[in-house]
Formats: sequence, structure tokens, C-alpha cells
Amino acid sequence: MLIAELSSFAATGATEARDESIPWVKVYGPYARTLALSRLSAKHVQMSAVRNDWTRAEARALHDLPLTELLYRAQEVHRVTQPRDAVQLCSLLSIKTGACPEDCTYCPQSSKYETGVEAERLMDVRDVLQKAREAKQAGASRFCMGAAWRSPKKGSRQFQQVLEMVRGVRALGLEACATLGMLDDEQTQELKEAGLTAYNHNLDTSEEYYGEIITTRTYRDRLETISRVAAAGISVCAGGIIGMGEGIDDRVAMLVTLANLTPQPESVPVNALVAVQGTPLADQRPVDSLELVRMCATARIMMPNARVRLSAGRASLSREAQLLCFMAGANSIFFGDKLLTTGNPDHDSDLALLRDAGLSPLDPAPGPASDAAE
Ligand code: SF4
Repeated sequence: MLIAELSSFAATGATEARDESIPWVKVYGPYARTLALSRLSAKHVQMSAVRNDWTRAEARALHDLPLTELLYRAQEVHRVTQPRDAVQLCSLLSIKTGACPEDCTYCPQSSKYETGVEAERLMDVRDVLQKAREAKQAGASRFCMGAAWRSPKKGSRQFQQVLEMVRGVRALGLEACATLGMLDDEQTQELKEAGLTAYNHNLDTSEEYYGEIITTRTYRDRLETISRVAAAGISVCAGGIIGMGEGIDDRVAMLVTLANLTPQPESVPVNALVAVQGTPLADQRPVDSLELVRMCATARIMMPNARVRLSAGRASLSREAQLLCFMAGANSIFFGDKLLTTGNPDHDSDLALLRDAGLSPLDPAPGPASDAAE
């Protein structure tokens, strides 16, 4: 990307540049191009550098910039680190729905709340792979499977079935992602061996606010699973939700925790709460779309190499708001008319949005099984 940037600048044949270290000096002729190129290169290297030493104050200052400035800075980073004009399409399927013993206050699948979500057993492997085939045909490159578990049961038949699903999805040439709750070392290793591309485990919010949202497991538990997944060489997908009554400092603190992970997450879902009747957060006010834009832009700058995924809440965003999120650095969406249990824009409207905006779907990353024929 950097080389392409440099060549396109070189093609402009610039013959004049100002040396900003000595503001009154202008440089003419061939040296101008060398000076400008070296400055461009240094700037791009700096922008794409991954930092794991973010402070909350720095992140807050970034988040609070005038929105046009924040968007500009995020777009500058995006152009250096991400494929241009491409959006990753991920399909999400609930492979085991409801009756979850956890008490996440935003979640209609928790057994603690009356939300009308019917509990379902783990789906049959063949049915899951059929859904994966359909998702691929529709244009998805990543297939994410979610099970409403605190953690998979050790040595259970269900976990073996999930491993079979992962192998099957990879054999279709799709990236495979799963979100199954907390994992131990052995389970993580088995998922790795099955070919799992990424594991989703969201932080949800800041460590300070976390206790207001979930009491059945700790922030530390979340971080431990994330670090296990990363140590096994599986990509980490971790993000959070805004609109749960948290403050801006909580949002920023969550981004700092994510950005200071080593390695930084490969993908960062940015969700807006979908308030579901029956959950304790049913009466939360919807977040303003510009707050989502700010989160996407701040995440893009702090985690330059991550796919920033515009996730739950997209159904209530206008096309223009979604485009602003793409401008801010979001380059991944859940594709399909249902998330785990809540609504999402349908395939046709997403494809129309991408077409009208001149964006194209991102190809799956190459992997051991991704070349296998369908
Ligand atoms: S978010 Fe996941 S862990 Fe929490 S209640 Fe819902 S399904 Fe269970």
C-alpha cells in the first residue's frame, strides 16, 4: 500500500516542496520530490505503527476531536493500512440459541430475562454448513458461529460438533469465526487444529462499568480467554457495545484496553445497543449515529491494522450514516438479515449500498483450507 501511495505521488511529478522544519525555505527541482516523498513515507510509517501504550487521556482527546478532523485523521490511517474501497462481509449464525446461564443485561438470550427468545438446541452440522454455503453464495467471506454458552462443556459431543462445523466452513473456502464463551487451553488448541480463523470474545465496555452489565463472569475472565486465543495463534475478534448507559470515558477506556493488547485484535466489532424488551436495558435511549462514527474513527486510529466491524444497531442507521462509518474506517459488516437474534439490513440493501458507494466485498484471507473447492 505504501509503495502504491509513493508511486502515485511520484507520478504527479511534483517539483516544489516546502521544508517545514525551516518554514521559509522552499526546495525546487528534483530534490523537492525526494524531500516530499521522504516526508510522505515517514508520515505513513508513523500512522500505520501499532502502539500498545495508549493512555486514556490521549484516546479521549482523539475521540473528542471535531468530527471532521477525526474523520480526516482516521481516513488517513485507513488509506495506509487497509485495502481501499473494500468491506469485509461476515455472516453470523446462532448455532445454539437462548437459555444462556450468563446475565449480560443487553442480551435477549440470557435465561435470567423474559424476552420471548425460544431456546434451541445446537444445530445439526449439515444445517450449519448449508447456511455457510448460502452465505458464501450471497458474497460473505467470513462465517461466524455463535453459541449461547458460558463456555463449551469439556469433552462434550456438542463441542466435537462445533469442531466439525469449523472444519466444514474452512473446507468451503470461508474464514471461520466462533463465539462460544470462555475457553480453556485444550478447547482453544482443538479449535486451532480444526482451522478456526478467529474467535470472538467482546469486552463489551470498560473494566469499571463492566459490573453494571454482567455479574456472572469478570473482566479478567474475558481477558484470559482473549489471551489464550491469541497465544494459540487464532485471530482475536474483540470489541464492545455503546449505548448501555456508560460514559464516554468508559467507551474510550475499552478502546484503550483493546489497543494495548498484544497483539491488537484482528477485528473490532463496534456495536450500538439494540434494546430488547424484557432485558434490563430495554429502556435505554438509542445512541446517536455520530457517536458510532466517533467510535469507528477512534478505533481505526488506535488499531490501524484491525478490521473495524460495524455490527449491531446497523439496521437503524441511514445509508448516509453507514457511509460515514466507512469513511471513519469501518470496513467490515455483518451481512444477512439477522444477527444472533436481532434484526440487520438484508443482503439486497447491503449489496445496493456497496454498489452505490462504489465499494466491493473483501476476499477471504488465504488459509490452509481456503483454496478447497466447494
Ligand atoms: S451475550 Fe452471550 S454470554 Fe451473555 S447472555 Fe448472551 S449469549 Fe450468554
